[in-house]
Amino acid sequence: MDINQYKQTLLELKDEVSGRINAIDRDIRHEGMSADWSEQASERENDEVLESLGNSSEQELAMIKFALHRIDNGNYFQCDSCGEDIPPARLELLPFTAHCVNCAEKIEE
Ligand SMILES: [Zn+2]
Repeated sequence: MDINQYKQTLLELKDEVSGRINAIDRDIRHEGMSADWSEQASERENDEVLESLGNSSEQELAMIKFALHRIDNGNYFQCDSCGEDIPPARLELLPFTAHCVNCAEKIEE
């Protein structure tokens, strides 16, 4: 893949994750809140699940934005920690990664 294809993939991912975050936000705000008390209790449990889902999506979005930034800077193919080349196969699998396999293992990405 050339750099524009990675960029395209990242932009699509960014839209997808942004959409997911918006949907989660809408769910947490309970548009059309139910009046039933027991339903409210289960909605609160649901909120906790949604929040953790929201947090991991925010994290993913931050990584995607960082990867796009790295493309603009021309260092997308370099590991952010050690400066070694990140293998293209790894970037095709994880287009938003900023680290080579060795560094990712060290920092538990
Ligand atoms: Zn590295």
